[in-house]
Amino acid sequence: MDIKNGFVGTVGNTPLIRLKRFSEETGCDILGKAEFLNPGGSVKDRAALYIIKDAEEKGLLKPGGTVVEGTAGNTGIGLAHICNAKGYKCLIVIPETQSQEKMDALRTLGAEVRPVPAVSYKDPNNYVKLSGRIASEMENAIWANQFDNLANRQAHYETTGFEIWQQTDGKVDAWITSTGTGGTLAGVAMFLKEKNPAIKTVLADPMGSALYSYIKTGETKSEGSSITEGIGNSRVTANMEGAPIDDAIRIEDPECIRVVYQLLGEEGIFVGGSSGINVAAAVTLAKQMGPGHTIVTILCDSGGRYQSRLFNQEWLAAQGLSPT
Ligand code: PMP
Repeated sequence: MDIKNGFVGTVGNTPLIRLKRFSEETGCDILGKAEFLNPGGSVKDRAALYIIKDAEEKGLLKPGGTVVEGTAGNTGIGLAHICNAKGYKCLIVIPETQSQEKMDALRTLGAEVRPVPAVSYKDPNNYVKLSGRIASEMENAIWANQFDNLANRQAHYETTGFEIWQQTDGKVDAWITSTGTGGTLAGVAMFLKEKNPAIKTVLADPMGSALYSYIKTGETKSEGSSITEGIGNSRVTANMEGAPIDDAIRIEDPECIRVVYQLLGEEGIFVGGSSGINVAAAVTLAKQMGPGHTIVTILCDSGGRYQSRLFNQEWLAAQGLSPT
């Protein structure tokens, strides 16, 4: 028998997919870890589960309690699923710039959703800081605090990194992905570097994020902007701090969109903008490294979460972008 134990038992163990078009183009094996196949639909199910398990083990989260989080959507969706499965309540503070699909999913799952103006991290009303304050003022509530809670990267160290190592028989030359909290990039990089320090670890960053310059120069500076959601950061989180990252590649939106539509039309893989950044950056890295290398990245979430944006031609055109 092979039976999973509820939602929680179904998180992780996602397939690793060879991306044919991009592998042929580069002469490398470009492999995408299909995190959009997680039961809550994104890579963030893993972090959500570890954060809740950690709070339970520490006795911080008790029956009937509430999980509060500030999130661009995917972590909130993962948390809301797990809260339903385990009998907790869920309160999500989200920047009002995020897609309607993610807001709708959160409400459908029964989470209390508080959209707030998107202001910078320095502002006391930033969604992350606000969620921390709300949690501290509530009875029997925890703040998931995905950005600085190390249970997040631990999830990727113990599960995503381990799975990538197993699925490739250790034959992996490079690991590259974009970051929001840094949990995925850092956790997997730590695991793979412990196994083989020669594996190259690379950040894929959208425009508008300060992390590309942080990896390149040690200083957080940003330029430009991006339509991608859930990735890029203005600061170095606790989850990113000390992560063994060798290099960074920056991808502009037109290239990201082109890759998203190539994945859809030529591979039949329907994913969101962060996956476009990841695969575009993996291709750039493959060209830098030369043929014959195995490069692993993340397919973070489904394109269905961005139907009204990335896959709406009017919206796309209004951003000055096109599928080709
Ligand atoms: N892609 C998407 C669509 C996301 O929502 C996130 C998380 N916000 C990421 C990538 C990055 O994941 P992490 O938080 O582990 O850096």
